[in-house]
Amino acid sequence: MKMNDLPALDIEQRLPRLLVVDDQPANIQAVFQAFSADHQVLMATGGEQALKVAASKQPDLVLLDVVMPGMDGHEVCRRLKADPATRDIPVIFVTGHSDEAAETQGLALGAVDFISKPINPAIVRARVKTHLTLKAQADMLRQWVYVDGLTGVRNRRGFDEQLASEWGRAVREGSPLSVVMLDVDFFKRYNDHYGHQAGDACLRSVATFLRQAVKRPGDLVARYGGEEFACLLPGTPLAGAMTFAQQLGAGVEALGLAHADSPVGPAVTVSLGVCATSGNEPGSAEALLHAADGQLYRAKEAGRNRACGVAMAVTHSTTR
Ligand code: GH3
Ligand code: MG
Ligand code: MG
Repeated sequence: MKMNDLPALDIEQRLPRLLVVDDQPANIQAVFQAFSADHQVLMATGGEQALKVAASKQPDLVLLDVVMPGMDGHEVCRRLKADPATRDIPVIFVTGHSDEAAETQGLALGAVDFISKPINPAIVRARVKTHLTLKAQADMLRQWVYVDGLTGVRNRRGFDEQLASEWGRAVREGSPLSVVMLDVDFFKRYNDHYGHQAGDACLRSVATFLRQAVKRPGDLVARYGGEEFACLLPGTPLAGAMTFAQQLGAGVEALGLAHADSPVGPAVTVSLGVCATSGNEPGSAEALLHAADGQLYRAKEAGRNRACGVAMAVTHSTTR
């Protein structure tokens, strides 16, 4: 794939975030002065506080004092690296007196660099810049793992991870959650009639439409498989999800993508399957998805270009 075929990524544009941890306010002040003009500088004066701020604010880099009363810098680093929520944040130790053994130990704990106090602003800025660049590149690579290369929407892996976490939240909060599965009708015929390249372009058009249609905060659209898309709608119960699914179906048809060989044409259409949990049923994220897929199958069987849906509780009491 050529570089300019890659879909645009929605990467957050913001100032780099630094977390400075030091028990001496004067040291924090020195770092603050070196960075506050073009960085967001977060501060903590102890280890416990540093861990809290790191987890909640997700800094891009931590400048960490080694010697502190209570939890020392080494222990903070160990805990940051042990927690999946913070382990990708690079840590630079800032030490008053460094010797070989201390540096070796710090690096073994996962630190990326050492800086000695009192800090030299120019040197600290240069080192921090290097590590922030590496962090930004790593973040971008991590994002790509969840992006579908053809359409630029999330891929199946991204969807499955988000579904698992939204399922957990729905159960915890007793709040509704809906899944809409959507599959292009007679797409094999589309490829056969117009060619595979045109088929790819058709999938991009459908994805672009879905991306702008599915736009509430927390909503998500993904390409789940070949010509199959999935939407995740947190906070939306069955009735709302059914209405939304009908709108998506009508919207795709209204794109007017010619499909001369479709028995339900003349435009490209989709079939949709919906399943909703109220957040109070037993079950699992997999069961929710499976039920939505079952409804998609029903929509296909019933003639395509339509939506079928079910509430999760009903699915559970039905034998199939
Ligand atoms: P139905 O209405 O039952 O969904 O029929 P269908 O033809 O859409 O379904 P089927 O599963 O028989 O065929 C799906 C087709 O989608 C076959 C496959 O070649 C095509 N396809 C899957 N992924 C891609 C892709 O990335 N690009 C293109 N152009 N075609 C794809
Ligand atoms: Mg299909
Ligand atoms: Mg299919």
